[in-house]
Amino acid sequence: MRFSKGRNFMFRVPEGRELVGFINEFAKKNNVLIGTVSAIGTLRNPKIGYFLETEKKYKVMELSGVYELVSLSGNISLKDGESFAHIHVALGDSEGKLWGGHLVEGEVFVAEVYIQELLGEPLERKPQENGLTLWDAEPL
Ligand code: ZN
Repeated sequence: MRFSKGRNFMFRVPEGRELVGFINEFAKKNNVLIGTVSAIGTLRNPKIGYFLETEKKYKVMELSGVYELVSLSGNISLKDGESFAHIHVALGDSEGKLWGGHLVEGEVFVAEVYIQELLGEPLERKPQENGLTLWDAEPL
């Protein structure tokens, strides 16, 4: 699918807010239907997921304490007709070691977020047999 660039948003999330929910809310409020997301900051007690292919579900790892949000990348598209953010993170501990995965939730200490809106045909997630909710794959 081809898209053109829309609006750019850059903002800081208030301390104490849950990051995934905040980004979803922001996208809905600002009518961002498709886009890319990136962020840096610090999260408290983040939960990250690892998809178990054979069990068709996420194993959720609950990290406790404060983690550097070294990198966050993700996208926004439609799921059940609403803006939906899919987000992956690399989180650094106090020794600089990284944890990584699908961000399930995380309380914000600091989060500086950048969203690039994309304009074009709607991009919709649909449930797949593998247990994931994905876009249709694009044939060459
Ligand atoms: Zn994921």
